[in-house]
Amino acid sequence: MKKVVVIGAGITGLAAAHELHKAHCDGEPIDWVLIEKDNRVGGKIVTERTGGFVVDGGPDCFLPDKPWAGQLAKELGIDGDMLPTNDEHKKTFILSGGALHLLPDGVMGLVPTKFVPFATTALFSWGGKLRMAADLILPRKPNEDDETLADFVRRRLGREALDKLAEPLIGGIHASDPEQMSLQATFPRFLEMEQKSGSLIRHMVKARKKMPPPPPPDPTKPKRTFFMSFVQGMGELPETCAARLDPERILTGVEVTDIKEHAGGYTVKVAGRDDIEAAAVIVCAEAHAAARLLKKVDDEIAEALAAIPHVSSATVSLAYKKDEIGNDLDGFGFIVPSVEDRKIMASTWSSTKWSHRVPEGYAMIRAFVGGAHNEKLAELPDEKMVKMVKSELKDIMGVGAKPVLTRIFRWPKGMPQYTVGHLDRVETIERRQAEHLGLFITGGAYRGVGVPDCVNAGQKAAKSALDAICPGAA
Ligand SMILES: Cc1cc2nc3c(=O)[nH]c(=O)nc-3n(C[C@H](O)[C@H](O)[C@H](O)COP(=O)(O)OP(=O)(O)OC[C@H]3O[C@@H](n4cnc5c(N)ncnc54)[C@H](O)[C@@H]3O)c2cc1C
Repeated sequence: MKKVVVIGAGITGLAAAHELHKAHCDGEPIDWVLIEKDNRVGGKIVTERTGGFVVDGGPDCFLPDKPWAGQLAKELGIDGDMLPTNDEHKKTFILSGGALHLLPDGVMGLVPTKFVPFATTALFSWGGKLRMAADLILPRKPNEDDETLADFVRRRLGREALDKLAEPLIGGIHASDPEQMSLQATFPRFLEMEQKSGSLIRHMVKARKKMPPPPPPDPTKPKRTFFMSFVQGMGELPETCAARLDPERILTGVEVTDIKEHAGGYTVKVAGRDDIEAAAVIVCAEAHAAARLLKKVDDEIAEALAAIPHVSSATVSLAYKKDEIGNDLDGFGFIVPSVEDRKIMASTWSSTKWSHRVPEGYAMIRAFVGGAHNEKLAELPDEKMVKMVKSELKDIMGVGAKPVLTRIFRWPKGMPQYTVGHLDRVETIERRQAEHLGLFITGGAYRGVGVPDCVNAGQKAAKSALDAICPGAA
């Protein structure tokens, strides 16, 4: 039996373990173990369920257009629990000048594609609108060299589009500063659009016109929306994945402290336990943690891993009695441009966006704190953080009621930042990794931060590990 050690039981490590489990059940001569330093599996995915409230502390959704999370759910038999958004309330607001403005209909990515909603919105000044329209006539960039997302948006659509659309919409996904983000690593499609069509607006308008009309609702088929979750929260995916695996092979509350390479494979050092000998190691810990573990294996890998910056954030969920909240929460929430100089990045109106999140008669709001612009705020003590969020929600939405439930989830250095040069760093890691038979480094810090990307990355790493140690198995 050849042993594979998977380090880190976030969704990447769980997806990897699931592949190894299948190979083992198919009779491949492999043994595996999944080691997690926390006392629970799931990593950044966590759902607390209490008194009928379902509170997601990390991700609250995934993109079904990237098929891997949905496919894993199907394999685990929970695809019937996949939950669409309540699209009859699909509205996003942007805070501008202290007031919430509806994101104009037809904005795709960050590009306006419908004339009337764009022309009539008070979100942008006339100067800002004209500057965005200049995208139609501006020349292409002469080369495809990487640039920051901010430089790209300023160049094509102007300052207002960056401040009021791109920064809060797109920076919000990565909790990042667009002045640092690599366009090629985060949104290569924008660059392709510019190169192909010469204009983002022209490209998006064409794409929108080509889109087939939505099919009439088919009551026999489950509803699919742009974002999806699970009835019992995002935690359902890692929890079910772990429950289908052999529990003796999942070690929680156990920290890997070091990895050493030798002629036959790897020695994995584990705090308070015997060393584990492995033919292959799949490292799914955060990049900064992986850097520490791999110092003795390969200095160049460790250096490239340590150079991937991470920022801290926190989510604060507040539940209220519906008749006390004083706001009908008609929308999915709002995003906050950093130029507004507020203390929260965004807010999701969880009980409107999703069914099954609160008991009858209650409502729930979730706020995001920290990120690249305000990282220090994610370190506030609980009481101060809740007070700050309540005060922001009162100012922005007029919600002054007393919450009946408050939950904080903290993510210190939990968000990898794909800054300029990111793809070079990832290429270095992958090039050096290929020199170490049986070593695989994967997860949300490299080629896609979303849950489906992580599932895909974990599965791919497991298949490569099987190929390396049992050729022909995967
Ligand atoms: C607040 C927040 C909101 C998000 N929202 C969304 C969203 O809505 N949709 C979406 O698709 N994505 C979202 N993401 C991103 C997504 O959740 C993550 O990219 C993904 O879950 C990362 O999974 P992972 O397994 O690669 O890493 P992680 O979940 O970070 O797992 C790594 C694991 O390794 C463990 N570990 C580290 N060191 C060691 C060691 N030495 N020994 C043993 N174990 C170790 C850690 O404890 C951790 O459990 C969000 C992220 C955050 C933080």
